[in-house]
Amino acid sequence: MPEAESNRPSAWNVPDFRPELAFPQLTEDMVERLRSYGREENFPADVTLFARGERQVDMFVVLDGEVRISLPTSDGETKTIAHHRRFDFSGELNLLNSQGSLVDAHTVVESRLLRIPRNQLQRLMRAEGDIANLITQATIWRRIGILGESAGGILLMGHADDAEMTELHRFLIRNSYPHRIVEVPMGEGAQLDDGLSDVQPTLPAVVLSDGRTLHRPTIAELADELGITELPDPETIYDVVVVGAGPAGLAAAVYAASEGLCTLVIEGTAPGGQAGTSSKIENYLGFPTGISGQRLASRAQLQALKFGVRFAISRDVVTVESIGGIHRLTLAGGISVCTRSVVIASGAQYRKLSVENYGQFENHGIYYAATAMESLLCRDKEVIVVGGGNSAGQAAVFLSGIAKHVHHVVRGKSLANTMSQYLISRIESSSRITLYTDSEIVKLEGGLSLEHVTWVSRGSGGLTAKPIGSVFVMIGAEPNSGWLFGAVKLDKKGFILTGGTEGFEMTPYATSVPGMFAVGDVRSNSIKRVASAVGEGSVVISDVHRYLADHRNHFAVEPRSALAALRSASGTTAPQPATP
Ligand SMILES: Cc1cc2nc3c(=O)[nH]c(=O)nc-3n(C[C@H](O)[C@H](O)[C@H](O)COP(=O)(O)OP(=O)(O)OC[C@H]3O[C@@H](n4cnc5c(N)ncnc54)[C@H](O)[C@@H]3O)c2cc1C
Repeated sequence: MPEAESNRPSAWNVPDFRPELAFPQLTEDMVERLRSYGREENFPADVTLFARGERQVDMFVVLDGEVRISLPTSDGETKTIAHHRRFDFSGELNLLNSQGSLVDAHTVVESRLLRIPRNQLQRLMRAEGDIANLITQATIWRRIGILGESAGGILLMGHADDAEMTELHRFLIRNSYPHRIVEVPMGEGAQLDDGLSDVQPTLPAVVLSDGRTLHRPTIAELADELGITELPDPETIYDVVVVGAGPAGLAAAVYAASEGLCTLVIEGTAPGGQAGTSSKIENYLGFPTGISGQRLASRAQLQALKFGVRFAISRDVVTVESIGGIHRLTLAGGISVCTRSVVIASGAQYRKLSVENYGQFENHGIYYAATAMESLLCRDKEVIVVGGGNSAGQAAVFLSGIAKHVHHVVRGKSLANTMSQYLISRIESSSRITLYTDSEIVKLEGGLSLEHVTWVSRGSGGLTAKPIGSVFVMIGAEPNSGWLFGAVKLDKKGFILTGGTEGFEMTPYATSVPGMFAVGDVRSNSIKRVASAVGEGSVVISDVHRYLADHRNHFAVEPRSALAALRSASGTTAPQPATP
């Protein structure tokens, strides 16, 4: 068997898996270049190079010998998933982020390896474009392989209809974290013969790969345990902190880091924002057959990681204060971060219907996204989609391929002014979608989850009532700007005012506070589209550069006093300026 093939894991039966991309071999020239980033080390046989759960593991290039990569299984055994031989390298997605290792690595025989420490890896990813692309590609495909393994990852157990369970599940999916689900039937706890049934009273529970169980963890607790979040360094003054990892924030992060700025992204939930909840984005340039929002977001996050962006996921920014050119952002839980500039990309969130019992059925029949995950809940059942915009249209079309029938309820008299023509045509031509214009939902009924829905035709007053358990509400969004109240100027609806107004810097994205910029859906008068959010996120970085150049001139000798002022407000120690 040729060398390049021998390390391919036979076990990875993921559809369309590309072993040649997951396990590329470095060339002799590449290995020579890599030597300046690492050191050669000799290891005897059967030495652990890194173990599952370890964070910030180094990368190893095999010069001579062999390294075995194995995945611990739920029954306490290990499964070999790859062998690295001459000029192969170790690591998967966790090489680029701070997640704990999902696998163990051991030498099989006496081996000579090139160890590339993490800090050098970042330098290499910036300087060696061809090798960086090879590594990035391999890390994605290796993670795809691990995600497809039934053996590894963590175990999430709970009741299928439980809102907390749904939230944890969504969090794991959106952060591409390998997991398995054990659904526990309502009222049945002692049926499981896996020794875990005693956790029933505190479901949902997460059984970690080291055997520990977290009962009803919050998203932040789970994220910290899994290393999904990288807590920001309180000692650093970042060049730019991006708040929100939707399309606008991810674009800003990629451009900022690729241009050498020390960049941190703070995201409350998961990369992707609203776009991450879209089943298929069909109008984003370059994807003629469409791309799921989740996929677009994962790719963008990888691109950002490649350039050295740090991500603090799972905590919202709750306040911001600015003194003398330094901005301090405080995250939920009290951690604070200092930065010279801020790009606000906190987007918007779904609007809700004003119907009695509405809150009772959120995540128990009322959903705001129609992705593959939600579609599992309504296979061959009748569903309702509410809203006249493009997101509602996409949801109706997507669900019509899965649900028995889609009832599309719209308040407006037609879709013409609010939806793209291609979607209107598809809705009109589908026998599995019925459109109810000038109509609204008036009653929601059910027990633990939604069971019956009634809507009214506003013109005739006629009521339609159906035994339906899934309603997809897609009626627009409100800005995520509550945390900025009193800090920057907002318009009447709470969107951030930017540029061009009297008293503002004359750049389109400058807010009323120097050094703070706003892009994407949260910005007043922005076009609410993925492409425009991405465009604004990329363009704003040139404004940030200009601002930082001035800022360094004006404040270079003064950041200490600005920090002292911020410090005296909180009693914390002074952060250190970052070295880009
Ligand atoms: C279901 C759906 C389908 C769509 N389909 C399309 C489409 O096909 N084509 C198209 O062009 N547009 C589409 N859109 C619109 C598009 O997704 C948005 O315009 C775009 O996502 C806006 O990007 P953004 O980065 O500005 O904000 P968002 O995508 O809203 O991202 C903001 C991010 O900031 C985070 N955040 C908020 N507050 C805080 C805080 N205080 N601290 C930390 N993080 C915070 C949020 O968790 C979120 O991840 C769709 C929208 C939806 C909901």
